[in-house]
Amino acid sequence: MSLAEKLSEERRARLAAERLLEQKQAELHAANRKLGRHAQQLSEEIVETRAEVQTVRSENQRYRSEITEANQKIAIAERRLWLSIQSIQDGFAFFDADGLLIAANPAWLSIFEGLEEIAPGVSFVRMLQLATEEGIVDPGTDTGDGWRRRMIAHWESPVPEPEVVRLWNGQFIRLITRRGHGGDVVNLATNITATVRYERRLQEARRRAEAASRAKSAFLANMSHEIRTPMNGVVGMAELLCDTELSEEQKLYADTIRNSGEALLVIINDVLDYSKIEADRLELHPAAFDLERCIHEVVTLLLPSARDKGLEVIVDYDLFLPTRFVGDQGRIRQVLTNLVGNAVKFTARGHVLIRVVGLPVGDGQQVRLHLTVEDTGIGIAPDKVAHIFEEFRQVEDDRNRSFEGTGLGLAISRRLIALMQGEIWVDSEPGEGSAFGFRITLPLAEGESAASTPVALPAPLRRVLIVDDSEVNRTILARQIGALGAEVTLCASGAEALDRIGSGIDLVLSDHNMPGMDGLELVQALRDAGHGQPVVMLSSNPGYAEMDPARTLLAALLQRPTPRKVLFHAIGRLGSTPSAAASADTRTASHVPTFRSARPTAAPEPAAGRLLRILAAEDNATNRIVFQKMLRDAQVELQFANDGVEAVTAWRAFRPDLIFMDISMPRLDGKAATAQIRAAEATEGLARVPIVAMTAHAVDGDEADILNAGLDAYLSKPLRRDAIRQCVESRRPPETAAPFPVPSRATGAA
Ligand code: ADP
Repeated sequence: MSLAEKLSEERRARLAAERLLEQKQAELHAANRKLGRHAQQLSEEIVETRAEVQTVRSENQRYRSEITEANQKIAIAERRLWLSIQSIQDGFAFFDADGLLIAANPAWLSIFEGLEEIAPGVSFVRMLQLATEEGIVDPGTDTGDGWRRRMIAHWESPVPEPEVVRLWNGQFIRLITRRGHGGDVVNLATNITATVRYERRLQEARRRAEAASRAKSAFLANMSHEIRTPMNGVVGMAELLCDTELSEEQKLYADTIRNSGEALLVIINDVLDYSKIEADRLELHPAAFDLERCIHEVVTLLLPSARDKGLEVIVDYDLFLPTRFVGDQGRIRQVLTNLVGNAVKFTARGHVLIRVVGLPVGDGQQVRLHLTVEDTGIGIAPDKVAHIFEEFRQVEDDRNRSFEGTGLGLAISRRLIALMQGEIWVDSEPGEGSAFGFRITLPLAEGESAASTPVALPAPLRRVLIVDDSEVNRTILARQIGALGAEVTLCASGAEALDRIGSGIDLVLSDHNMPGMDGLELVQALRDAGHGQPVVMLSSNPGYAEMDPARTLLAALLQRPTPRKVLFHAIGRLGSTPSAAASADTRTASHVPTFRSARPTAAPEPAAGRLLRILAAEDNATNRIVFQKMLRDAQVELQFANDGVEAVTAWRAFRPDLIFMDISMPRLDGKAATAQIRAAEATEGLARVPIVAMTAHAVDGDEADILNAGLDAYLSKPLRRDAIRQCVESRRPPETAAPFPVPSRATGAA
């Protein structure tokens, strides 16, 4: 090979090598670039990671410091809380689910007076044991065992009620126990000694105040009673004075004394009743009584004042309602007297309507009675109505000032009705009238059934003509007579009655006082026109009708308002004996309790038999004189005893035929004296002497009380001459001389 060849070969080789080198260099370069890029990326990532690490680190740092801070705060809060718990006066402790003490503040621990055993870890049960053993608690009437049982029951109760613990030193701790999470128990002990003492002081003060109030009421009750005694003397003497020869002027004076005295007695009775209720001394004495009769008795007593004003008093007693119940008749009458009395007092014209309805309750042996008293009077202003049952609440205004009264009547009525578990209310429209009502539930008296059916009408009396100018009266009468099975025709006047009488009418029921033609004129006109039907007249003033010649034309004259029984009875008699009916007269059927004679009173036969011996036991000198004077015309032997002891002695020595016995007397009261006499009669086989109580209103107990004590009857003071005479006449033995033949001489031994 030539050199040139060699050279060119070499050049070629060198060229190839250079190319290769170039190529390799390019490759290297590319690789370097790639590496550079990679390195760049790596270093970027490192920077990033570093930054992240830094962030995490600083966050970590922050969290750490926050946790530290929080921990510090917790520690502070815990310290403060505990400090507070330590320093509060109330005891505070908490226990774990096993009842072991975890912690307690000094107040709580102080209950245990520094007992070393009382420390975290001690059990609640052990603490109770220590509390009793060491005499820390005063279990009072309970035993230590009993007390611990009670406390454990408290502890174990799911929602424990607060428990009060009395400590040895008289302090009172109230324990409140609450369950927390995981069975932890928190116990709070509050010292309530001051509150307890305060409450006790308050209770004591209240008890004293109530006792003082009761004592005052009792004082008032006693005083009222004491005032009554001389007042009875005043009224009694005035009554006696009125019976003597007096000039017109003197009679006016004596009447005024008597009327004022009686008015004062009414007031005293109110005060007495009220103070008795206030002093818790008023008791009810239930007994069987006739409600309808009781209402008519009340009405009868108030009728004179109603009549003076021309008021009609109407009683609407539910037809199907029984009339006999068991209740305190005296108190029910008192409420009725107050309500009807007020209605009459505050009504100038129109009527007063007493309505009674009832519903059987329970097993049908009791009746819920609903009584209302409606009037057409002055009414009560709406703002006054709400207070009307409060004490001393008279509706004070000019129109009312002219009415006298204590303002206690309704307050007493309310209390009495409350004592009977009833309610009382009023509805009123000024200028229109008032309606007072009360509701009481009373048992039926024996032999009464819840639904009583009225008697049937006598067969010949089928069609009845009712004549009355008052619509209320017509309606009530129509209902009553209709219920007997009669066909009823209603007329508002005598003239209308004359028009409608015809031949079909069997009986005429007429009002007395009607405008135009009154009942008596009507009966006369009927007879003149040739109508012979029996006429029964209902009059609120039968005494007045009695004096009219036309009276003889009436088949019956009845006092109005008429109890259903009386009306039915009168009509019944018409049906049975038509001839006797013409003279039937039930006017005198009195519903006022009187002393009925056990046997008919003998006709006066002067000087036949020995003198009647009367013993009167009465401690008050004035009352003795009144009593003596009331019997001054009587032919009797009268002896007085000044108290119960003297009464018993006089009963032995004097052998009276009749004894009048005051109830409240010194040494031995009337009931006790009677008991001694009754006992002696029984053991010695002596005849039973009639003993009649003389009582002041309400104080000496009620009728039942007196009768239970062996007395036979009672008279209330102020004594009335008529009542005494009636009593003497009805109770004297047959062999004695009639005491009141002719008023001649008085035999007294006082
Ligand atoms: P008072 O002894 O004054 O009658 P009450 O307690 O019975 O005492 O009545 C209180 C007051 O209630 C009466 O004074 C009267 O103002 C009012 N009042 C009671 N009943 C009626 C009535 N039927 N109509 C109008 N006012 C009445």
